[in-house]
Amino acid sequence: MWKRTWQLPVFLLALSVAVSSVAADQWQGKRAAVVFIYDDTLNVHLDKVAPALDAHNFKGTFYLAVGYPNFQARLDAWRALANNGHELGNHTMFHPCEGGMPGREWVSKERDLSTWSVARMVDEITMTNTMLQVLDGKTKRTFAYTCGDTKAGGESFVAPIKQLFVGARGVKAELQSPQQVDLFDIRSVVVAGQSAQQLTAMVDEAIAAGGLLVFLFHGVGGEHPIDVALESHNALLDYVRAKQQQLWVAPMVDVAEYIQAAQAQSK
Ligand SMILES: [Zn+2]
Repeated sequence: MWKRTWQLPVFLLALSVAVSSVAADQWQGKRAAVVFIYDDTLNVHLDKVAPALDAHNFKGTFYLAVGYPNFQARLDAWRALANNGHELGNHTMFHPCEGGMPGREWVSKERDLSTWSVARMVDEITMTNTMLQVLDGKTKRTFAYTCGDTKAGGESFVAPIKQLFVGARGVKAELQSPQQVDLFDIRSVVVAGQSAQQLTAMVDEAIAAGGLLVFLFHGVGGEHPIDVALESHNALLDYVRAKQQQLWVAPMVDVAEYIQAAQAQSK
């Protein structure tokens, strides 16, 4: 059974800004883009986060590990979330991660990516897509690397999964323009204990830079060691809504499709 004792290897508070020259209104007619994503199939995402997003008229992306008990126990609720316009993203079935390194003691032998093959990981991810499609009927979605890991048995599985997704989320914190984004390493900011003020400051940075800002949440008011207060989360939503004239807020799959089209057009 998965133990909730892990941490991501890096915690970056300061965003690095890669955006150099900024074209105005390059994000669906807005200055910058914001994506809210929620990892690991938590009850709090259904019970607290989704109502908060809906109250602000925002749609987010929920990266589900479909082998987790919270997926099976609440199938109807996850389906309702998708019907409501949120993206159900792929976060594998059983959340395998590379073990055998400091901070990864919680990774079980059976779910240690360092002992898996690329083929096994691709099978796992493919089956997860099938299960999510049964639930939401969608054939396009995005992936989130578990623990940010991109290798199985020491080999990269990034290229083999490209045909399965519009894009995949990584864990480097950076603001980028549509042209700069690597669709299979979409940058994100891990939200872990920041204050509302620290989070809203990043929104201002994104607007100034004209970049894509992805907030990666796990626990929101509990249920995961990587956590942020519900009040800070909701204050962030308030702030983004207040700045909505300058911000495009959408699920990851919509933003990834937009980037894909923008990059294809410029070739
Ligand atoms: Zn995860």
